[in-house]
This record gives sequence, structure tokens and C-alpha cells, in this order.
Amino acid sequence: MQELKDRIIKDGEIYPGDVLKVSSFLNHQLDTELLDHIGREIADIFSKSKITKLLTIEASGIAIAMGVSRYINVPIVFAKKNKNKNMSQDVYTAEVVSFTKGTSTQVSVEKRFLSKEDSVLIVDDFLAKGSALNALTTIVKESGADLVGCAIAIEKVYQGGGAEMAQKGIRVESLAKIKSMSVEDGIVFED
Ligand code: 5GP
Repeated sequence: MQELKDRIIKDGEIYPGDVLKVSSFLNHQLDTELLDHIGREIADIFSKSKITKLLTIEASGIAIAMGVSRYINVPIVFAKKNKNKNMSQDVYTAEVVSFTKGTSTQVSVEKRFLSKEDSVLIVDDFLAKGSALNALTTIVKESGADLVGCAIAIEKVYQGGGAEMAQKGIRVESLAKIKSMSVEDGIVFED
């Protein structure tokens, strides 16, 4: 998606540890028009699929999922990182290693929000090593729902998460695929 790639080049910031900061339009301040266009693009890609739920992970995935939900009008379920008191105990859980923090967290989804009747599209902002997607696909599997695929705004291809998903036969569609990234040479996209 050229508009997203252009915006990454214009406003993305490369940080140590292979982190691309997109805080001015996707991760902190939100460009709602861009999010709408991302949503439209994802909806177009999956237009032939039956989808009953969008599944993402808090916090940044929610904004992407909201964009998609304007074109695929189904509920968004987001995996929660901290199980709180007002959450039912009847939950699916999986482990996520945070790419940016390096810490491990359990994420949960209440069982009543995903069932074997569902066809699920997973949505997230970034795909790096694949831990977040692994956790979300595990939750879908546990629920018995059908996994339609995964839609990602920005994939850092060289970090291998996408290849791992493909090996498992999971469809992953990323709108901006980064082939390499460094302060010296900048960001290079795949075609
Ligand atoms: P993974 O689990 O695939 O290693 O990393 C994906 C998750 O880590 C995403 O949910 C995203 O929030 C975060 N993440 C991974 N790489 C980056 C990055 O370069 N920049 C930002 N802002 N977040 C990232």
C-alpha cells in the first residue's frame, strides 16, 4: 500500500533494537484517515472471505481493527494483556513475548466472545518475530473457530515471523513489507 509506505518513509523513526517508531500516525497519535484507508485495503484483500469476528491484541492493534471494521462490519475482540477482576475466569490464554520490551505476558480472551461458529480475521499493527500472531492463532485454534488469515499493517520481513506463519499454512497479508532497515541505509521495502 503505497500511501502507508510513503508515510513510513516520511514520519517513521528507526530506533535501536530494530524498532520502527510510528508514534505520530499509528501508535500514539492516530491518523484516522490513514487508518480508514488501511481498513479499506484490508477489507478489499479479504473481500471473498466470510468473516464473523476481527481479533487483535491491545493496545495498538485496536486502532487498525477499528479501521477494518468500518468496511467489514463485525465485532472486534481484543486479547487483553492483564487479566483484571471484571473479566470472567472462562478464558482462552496464550503467552506473548513483547518485541519492544522483551518481557513475557499472558494474554486472554473471554470464551464467550469466540466460538467454533466464528470465522476470524486476525489484525495487528506490526509483525516482527511472530510472537503476537502465534498467541492469537493459538487462541483461535483453542476456540475451534475457523482462521481466515492475518492482516498486518507493517511487516519486518527479515525478522522471520511471516515466514513461520506461512510454514504453518496461515495466510498473512501485510500492507507494507520491510525488507531491511538501518539508520545508515534507511528503510527498504519489498515490492
Ligand atoms: P512480534 O510478536 O511479531 O515479534 O512483534 C509484533 C508486536 O510487537 C506488535 O504487536 C507490535 O506492537 C510490536 N512491534 C514489533 N516490532 C515493532 C516495531 O518495530 N515498532 C513498533 N512500534 N512495534 C513493534
